[in-house]
Amino acid sequence: MRNAEYGWAMEEREALARNLKQLIELDRALAPVAAPVAAPVAAPVAAPVAAPASPATKPAPVAKPSVASAPPVVVRTSPVAALVTPVEAVVTTTGPDSLERIAAEIATCRACGLCDTRRSTVPGEGNLQPELLFIGEGPGVDEDATGRPCVGAAGQLLTKMIVAMGFKREDVFIANIIKCRPPGNRTPEPAEVTACMGYLRRQIAALKPTVICALGNTPLRALMGDDNLDITRMRGQKLSFAGITLIPTFHPSYLLLNDEAKKPCWEDLKLVLKELGRELPKRG
Ligand code: URA
Repeated sequence: MRNAEYGWAMEEREALARNLKQLIELDRALAPVAAPVAAPVAAPVAAPVAAPASPATKPAPVAKPSVASAPPVVVRTSPVAALVTPVEAVVTTTGPDSLERIAAEIATCRACGLCDTRRSTVPGEGNLQPELLFIGEGPGVDEDATGRPCVGAAGQLLTKMIVAMGFKREDVFIANIIKCRPPGNRTPEPAEVTACMGYLRRQIAALKPTVICALGNTPLRALMGDDNLDITRMRGQKLSFAGITLIPTFHPSYLLLNDEAKKPCWEDLKLVLKELGRELPKRG
């Protein structure tokens, strides 16, 4: 019996040590971060990065998942991943497509009703040859005011997550499914998503990221072409969009309201790093 008791005690101690290690990692990831760890990324930075907007503003709401453990990693391929549809191809036949050109088209886009209420279009910003592309839902009030993605409270948490992964914000590219703010920060309508997806497909084709990280239900569903998918079940899985590894996780707006989602989210971000062949940065 002594041996059995001893074995149980060892197991319990090991489990506790594992839990503690995970919590420390998460705390490091999501606590205020000092100097970023240098990342070996040499590619050019596209958009200038201005000071972030006021942290006091309300983040854009996202569809609410509930936290549960995700099933094991599977590979699932998007059925809607053709990067450029024939119509989009016609638009771009006069020269190579570029983020600048796509942004210019977005700036005058009237493909859905959101153009009537937007203040700015928000095409996205970051490294034009990124290893990693984050895709959120759509602009909120701060993004609409500035024309920059993820600069409100949720965006500031995303920036911390990026830094915790060992990147600088400008090392990655940040885009959204839709490029104009829905009134009242509501979830985008399916027709609005459909009207906007061509821009994102072209952005992905031009950026050629190694990994895409989808933030929340809206990008997960839009990229996978399946409105029945749920971020709670799909997070942390290795999916595929046009041959590019796609890993979904919780949206930072959701993390701001649900502390218990931070730990699984950090696990997902570690999977992203693994896919990129990167080490978790050492922190002092
Ligand atoms: N939420 C998003 O998904 N994207 C933004 O740009 C801002 C908030």
